[in-house]
Amino acid sequence: MTSFQSAQRVRAISVSEILRITDHANALKRAGRPVIVLGAGEPDFNTPDNICQAAIRALERGETRYTVLDGSSVMKAAVQHKFQRDNGLTFALNEISVSAGAKQVIFNALMASINPGDEVILPTPFWTSYADMVQICGGVPVLLPCSEAQGFRLEPAQLEAAITPRTRWVFLNSPSNPSGAAYSAAQLKLITEVLLRHPAVWVLADDIYEHILYDGLAFATPAAVEPGLRDRTLTVNGVSKAYAMTGWRVGYGAGPKDLIAAMAVVQSQSTSCPSSISQAAAVEALTGPQSIVAERCSSFQARRDFVVAALNRTPGLNCRTPEGAFYTFASCSGVLGRHTPGGVQLHTDTDFCHYLLQDFDVAVVPGTVFGLAPYFRISYATAMTQLEEACARIHAACAALR
Ligand code: PMP
Repeated sequence: MTSFQSAQRVRAISVSEILRITDHANALKRAGRPVIVLGAGEPDFNTPDNICQAAIRALERGETRYTVLDGSSVMKAAVQHKFQRDNGLTFALNEISVSAGAKQVIFNALMASINPGDEVILPTPFWTSYADMVQICGGVPVLLPCSEAQGFRLEPAQLEAAITPRTRWVFLNSPSNPSGAAYSAAQLKLITEVLLRHPAVWVLADDIYEHILYDGLAFATPAAVEPGLRDRTLTVNGVSKAYAMTGWRVGYGAGPKDLIAAMAVVQSQSTSCPSSISQAAAVEALTGPQSIVAERCSSFQARRDFVVAALNRTPGLNCRTPEGAFYTFASCSGVLGRHTPGGVQLHTDTDFCHYLLQDFDVAVVPGTVFGLAPYFRISYATAMTQLEEACARIHAACAALR
């Protein structure tokens, strides 16, 4: 029998490292270890009841069939309403695409637009799926390191220098996974000024963490900050993070109708349409009462404050205060070179994360996975009691180093 050979296009990529680490930690947990998993990027809250009820009503009405392939008309109208209400952006229904998660929106956009060798500029640290998706589509990820000193944000000059005749897209993700860094409207304006000088470059704004933004900072998105970019911007968002709906799999994007139509072709030959029941739930999420979004955000903010303070009290660690999302991205450079009680020398952030998991039962993700070392990401979308215990263990782990 001939063994399985994977296709060329998937050889350079692998299963999401974050999911792999989370699965491994969960397996240890099932085996009886008291592991605290701070890996996964999903809110610990339940989906609000009004949203669940909307899904039940849809089921009772018999809404169990295929919908329009890139979103039911009701769902598209809900997305249209959301963009108008929250972002001051006006889109026609044929400028809106709904998929099984923001991830599929991004995937469809790349499948619909990338030719072999096309470059996609990805400011790092970045959500790793971006690079893998670009590669599946035959494109070339161009990673631009954004240091902590620059607030993990892309500098306009850095962007200008990276644009080539092959550049197809620039991705912007604010607030960011993994750094939590967000752009103010003024900071974004400087980036959009560069892009105005390069009319062939498209912008993908991943706004999935829009509603998880702290300290009163106003959310800004490129198409609203610079209307001149509207004709080449895809604004991506979804219900996963804002409404604790990761398992429902609904995301959406809005942009020029020709791109949206090409994305619909891709979707028609892969998933056909997002789940009808999930779309009914998402309509309620986007058009129903919004107060829960702010309530949950303030609870995330309390957790952020706790985790940042705890990490900054820990010998060898240093954590910038993130503006949004539910992650901290702390430097562990101060522990590198040191030895664990078991005599192992820590050389990299991956070594450090391995030590935390093996010896202290805390699962976090190394910065290397996100393209910037030596850092580690904590997802603090978990109960405060768990965070207290986890931070105490991380402290003990660092204090035990020699
Ligand atoms: N973008 C970013 C930056 C994310 O962190 C995630 C989820 N981890 C997504 C997109 C995808 O979200 P979903 O597919 O659940 O809508």
